Amino acid sequence: MIDPIPTSALVIPELRSVPRDVHGLSRRQMSQNALRVLYRLREGGFAAYLVGGAVRDLLVGGAPKDFDVATDATPEQVKVLFRNCRLIGRRFRLAHVVYGREIIEVATFRANGGDDDGDRQTDDGGRLLRDNIYGSIEDDAVRRDFTVNALYYAIEDFSVRDYVGGYADVQARVLRLIGDPETRYREDPVRMLRAARLAAKLGFSIEAGTAAPVPALAHLLAEASPARLFEETLKLFLSGHAAASFEWLEQLGLLPALLPETAQALASNKSGALRRMLLQGLQNTDARVANDEPVSPAFLYAVLLWPAYCRALAQLQAQGVHPAEAQRRAADRVTLHQVGRTALPRRFSLPMQEIWLLQPRFTQRQRKRVLRLLAHPRFRAAFDFLALRLSASDAHADDVSFWRDVQLEPAAVLAAGELQAAEGEAGEGDGSAPRKRRRRRRAPAGAPA
Ligand code: ATP
Ligand code: MG
Repeated sequence: MIDPIPTSALVIPELRSVPRDVHGLSRRQMSQNALRVLYRLREGGFAAYLVGGAVRDLLVGGAPKDFDVATDATPEQVKVLFRNCRLIGRRFRLAHVVYGREIIEVATFRANGGDDDGDRQTDDGGRLLRDNIYGSIEDDAVRRDFTVNALYYAIEDFSVRDYVGGYADVQARVLRLIGDPETRYREDPVRMLRAARLAAKLGFSIEAGTAAPVPALAHLLAEASPARLFEETLKLFLSGHAAASFEWLEQLGLLPALLPETAQALASNKSGALRRMLLQGLQNTDARVANDEPVSPAFLYAVLLWPAYCRALAQLQAQGVHPAEAQRRAADRVTLHQVGRTALPRRFSLPMQEIWLLQPRFTQRQRKRVLRLLAHPRFRAAFDFLALRLSASDAHADDVSFWRDVQLEPAAVLAAGELQAAEGEAGEGDGSAPRKRRRRRRAPAGAPA
């Protein structure tokens, strides 16, 4: 079914051109490769603009993570201009111009399209079946989601072209959907998550009319593909603004749609301890991103679903299920239910479960068990998780300090006899010392390896 009234018919685009001396963007802030693409298209006789998140981020003083280009050239025409170009997408073709590790995405103006992930989605029910026809720049502007995402930087005169009032909204730092919000959310419910994510990322407010319909439409997210929701979840929580994203999700009533069992568990946790811990986990994630330290989806999901896991575990134990069995079943149940909402590949769900299931082992202090747990491939993540649990309750503060010490100075904590195997690795000061010692020790033996 094709939507009889495309959104583009409901919004009347009106061009306001913002000259260079007003917007102040300079080509030095832009990707040299993106500029190359713009110039080449222009030399080829086509219109070419930088568009979307990159223009928005530059205007608010941020560093765009990628640079997208919009043009009136068809993908086939783009391909003729660039040797390093490949065409992707089946239903809607895009050109990727490849410069080493940087890819400049070049999209032909389109009318009445949906999101950029459109090709990957199978549409159903009453949603707009994407028509993916080429259009004018005006069509292209009004099919985008937020006004601040519909700004075009023109290479021909260095102006920013604004058809839907996005420039004023950037200045006011406000997110506003283009067109009728409810219609736009029904076309693509993931736009609700994008509102939360972009408000968090940019520190923008959400215009009242854009925020108002969200709580009542949040349930539509159940129709979105779990794979796309998984990707959107990673963008919400692994891009350096996880805590703010979470707070926006709560405020917009989106949490029950994205993490149903966690939302339930938080609502019934009167002390607020689980929410405190979850937020602390997200703040730690943000700090790691800010320091360029790696962050893993497994640990993230261990944090996000921990309230759900605790609740499921408590229920099973109340039914008299043996603790170890209850832990396994609670982990499986929570994983299974969540996978129905956001796809969670096993390479992430298995380590997530291990992080949970290792928690009780931190209470065991027998030497053999301590050494075994220290050697577990998931030890470090599980220990970080244990430390995080301190923000909910200090019941296991003792365990945290024990395991912190035993990692730093196993010899001081455990009997020396147990540590022979680890001797070489124990010294941490300057990396070369232990190796030299070992070589010296091996020399007299003289046996070739
Ligand atoms: P960021 O890259 O910082 O996450 P972005 O706005 O660039 O944010 P992308 O997913 O890269 O997000 O999308 C690029 C552009 O495509 C957006 O700026 C917007 O104009 C348009 N767009 C993306 N998703 C949608 C959608 N669901 N509906 C309408 N337009 C969309
Ligand atoms: Mg982008």
